[in-house]
Amino acid sequence: MDQVSCDVLVVGSGAGGFATAITAAHHGLDVLMVEKEPVFGGTTALSAGVVWIPGNADAARQGFADSREDALAYIRHEAGNRFDQARAEAFVDNGHRMLAFFEENTLVRYKAQSVWADYHPDAPGAAKGWRGLMPEPFDGRALGDSFGRLRAPLASMMVLGGMMIARDDLPQFFRMTRSVSAALYCSKLIARYGIDRLSHARGTRLANGNALVARLAKSAFDRNIPLWLSAPVADLTTEKGRVTGAVVVREGRRITVAARKGVVLACGGFPGNAEMQGRFYAHVAAGKNHLSAAPATNTGDGIRLGQAAGAAFQEDAAQPAAWTPVSLLPQKDGSVVPFPHFIDRGKPGVIAVDRRGRRFANEARSYHDFVPRMFETCRDQGTVEAWIVADHRAFRRYGLGAAPPAPHPVGRFLRSGYIASGQTVRELAQRIGVDPEGLARTVADFNAHAAAGEDPEFGKGSDAYQRFNGDLTHGPNPCLAPLDQAPFHAVRIIPGDIGTFLGLKTDPATRVLDGDGRPIPGLHAVGNDAASVMGGAYPGPGITIGPAMTFGWLAGRQLAGIAG
Ligand SMILES: Cc1cc2nc3c(=O)[nH]c(=O)nc-3n(C[C@H](O)[C@H](O)[C@H](O)COP(=O)(O)OP(=O)(O)OC[C@H]3O[C@@H](n4cnc5c(N)ncnc54)[C@H](O)[C@@H]3O)c2cc1C
Repeated sequence: MDQVSCDVLVVGSGAGGFATAITAAHHGLDVLMVEKEPVFGGTTALSAGVVWIPGNADAARQGFADSREDALAYIRHEAGNRFDQARAEAFVDNGHRMLAFFEENTLVRYKAQSVWADYHPDAPGAAKGWRGLMPEPFDGRALGDSFGRLRAPLASMMVLGGMMIARDDLPQFFRMTRSVSAALYCSKLIARYGIDRLSHARGTRLANGNALVARLAKSAFDRNIPLWLSAPVADLTTEKGRVTGAVVVREGRRITVAARKGVVLACGGFPGNAEMQGRFYAHVAAGKNHLSAAPATNTGDGIRLGQAAGAAFQEDAAQPAAWTPVSLLPQKDGSVVPFPHFIDRGKPGVIAVDRRGRRFANEARSYHDFVPRMFETCRDQGTVEAWIVADHRAFRRYGLGAAPPAPHPVGRFLRSGYIASGQTVRELAQRIGVDPEGLARTVADFNAHAAAGEDPEFGKGSDAYQRFNGDLTHGPNPCLAPLDQAPFHAVRIIPGDIGTFLGLKTDPATRVLDGDGRPIPGLHAVGNDAASVMGGAYPGPGITIGPAMTFGWLAGRQLAGIAG
């Protein structure tokens, strides 16, 4: 068997893995990264790349006064009796330091977003903006040949067959037919994309999580950190209770990697593990449907490896995964790709209904809050499903799921049946198998109050986060308008996730703990391989990548022997 050695072996190339590797290398350690897939970036490359960092410097520069006490009070409120004070303090105290480190020493660049509210903005310690930061777009050409090895975003989330739209490009695309400056902005992006496609398989203006991973990867490659692709860790090696390295399978050979300082598990949790879904997701245990938007190859390897070395797995959390409703976008080859519905539910002229044609939730609340309402309304059915319904004005103004707003063509979404349409509400209901009388009654009741900006049933648009999901230029309530312009349209949604929350027990210094709460020497876990620091709650935008990078940074420092 071949043998190599390093100071630190990092398993996985998402936000957690790259943050750890770059920090450890910066402090002089010899780092090796290994990645199971032929592409790097993991779930992070599919994500919006947003990080939630209370007290970040960009917000402070722009006059937003955050406090440690407020941030901790909010996490305590959200996590409830699963609040882990020591880890929460480690996150809040170090998140802004982590970001400052990456902005100073790498190509990572973030901008705080003034209007991105915490998801429960009226709770104690919550903020109505500034804690969520968006990565700046990046030119993929700077990666050279490695651009082709960066995991591509979900096909459902690109337009024109390969163009990325940044989260903060969206308002421009929504206004494209109504504003000259927005039309100009979008035309420039589309023209750049057209030129890109002459020489590349997809657009090279990277946004969101793809931009974050590209920025991290370029920074890691510039430091000569080796990254082995198609190289899964099969086993950890141990000696007298200490993790000493791992066995990596590379090009059919088993290579023993000795890691003098330690191994860091950053394999991105278990969203692709059907057996674990069946054990920990109540609806899957009951035989119901689920589709993860995270890579199917994130099969919980880190958790299995940790447990084999004696690690404790934290089974208790408010929710076992970060939920999101997904629709199923048909592809040319007959497969379907999930589209996560993060924001369209909140728009004016849009509601969500169950099979009875009844609304069952405040559509503008977060994706993580919305899915449990789907479970509840479908509790007596074998399938968990609902429909997001829009009138034609809303459909063309905001798009619906993967179907983009005007002036982009939507023919393929209609022809494939992804979007169903009807000239009347009853006709639409018949097409999608929803009770026509129920839907007609629901739309009439909703419309009776919507124009006045009221939703007596669910209070859609009643806080700052919900209004952000709406249309801030629309009044009196950014989330409400009657559905009164034919034809009417609907997309079917089912439960999905964007990653798991259950994970290995770790201490504030990222050391993996055994069943007695003692650190296992030589073993760390970050990102979704570690149990959620939020206790399975979803307090705000970026609450998984923010902690993944913060604990990655802490792991790198810890391994380099830097205290505090
Ligand atoms: C559409 C979408 C949008 C999202 N948006 C956001 C957002 O804006 N902000 C946010 O905070 N969260 C977001 N999330 C969730 C977020 O992306 C994940 O929680 C986060 O990226 C997980 O990071 P990670 O480093 O733990 O794992 P990953 O990024 O998944 O990386 C893990 C890597 O480990 C590799 N691996 C697995 N097993 C092995 C093995 N045995 N050997 C070697 N390598 C292995 C995997 O192949 C993978 O590449 C989103 C998710 C999705 C799907």
